[in-house]
Amino acid sequence: MKRLSFYIFILLPCIAIISALISTDLSDAFYKNHTNAEQPAAIQKPDSSNASSEHHPPTLGQLRKKYSHYFLTNGPRVNKVALTFDDVPDPRFTPQILDILKSHGVTATFFVNGHRIAKYPDIFRRIHEEGHAIGNHSYSHPNFNRLTVPEFVNEIQRTEQAAYPIIEYYPKMIRPPYGEITEEQLKWAVDHSYRIVNWNVDSLDWKGLGKNEVIQNIMSDIRPGAIVLQHGGGGVGSDLSGTIQALPEVITRLQALGYELVTVPELLGISLEK
Ligand SMILES: [Zn+2]
Repeated sequence: MKRLSFYIFILLPCIAIISALISTDLSDAFYKNHTNAEQPAAIQKPDSSNASSEHHPPTLGQLRKKYSHYFLTNGPRVNKVALTFDDVPDPRFTPQILDILKSHGVTATFFVNGHRIAKYPDIFRRIHEEGHAIGNHSYSHPNFNRLTVPEFVNEIQRTEQAAYPIIEYYPKMIRPPYGEITEEQLKWAVDHSYRIVNWNVDSLDWKGLGKNEVIQNIMSDIRPGAIVLQHGGGGVGSDLSGTIQALPEVITRLQALGYELVTVPELLGISLEK
């Protein structure tokens, strides 16, 4: 009887306590192992999705779809075409382009760099006075993909400050250098009632192409509502003589096809100013 009560009152509780401790350890160990096994996966998942969104931001095509009202490469399919000239004003090329446009009675759109306005205000004034539309092409021509939003805003606003004393308006159109813009910058532009205007016909004239190649690049791709990219200025050593020599023929051939040459705001039905 003594032995039985020893088992019941002393040994069994001890066994119960020991087994409870063991099972706690085991479950703890299981929990740790389990979470250790899961943790890398749990951490990896958000990390890898963050990494992919960092490394794969929306493409320009995706941004154009998402912000189709604000980010444009062409107008409606009407018999109108807009010629555009970037990187102006430049005393080597811009006055010759203006002469040709004037002699054909055609207006175009010029995307200006603020630092060039500061250098050549008289050419900039001439662009405006001869009835051409003005768009903002940044102050110093950086790739916007490498800029923060405040740096991007600074590029836009410095150009506006350079342009305003001469044209007395803030241009509604922004053409990003190289056509590149981030979604955050685009959102800022949308919130501040700008339009981002790229192109859908590229002359590739910045490569220093000859007259015939420039004509060929434009005419082979032209379509109703097209926005044509050309340059009216460039860096040291750039040669836009092909653009200048091609321009009279480009104008007459487009007109012969029935296209009316208009400014981008006319093509898009938007105002010049913001
Ligand atoms: Zn440019």
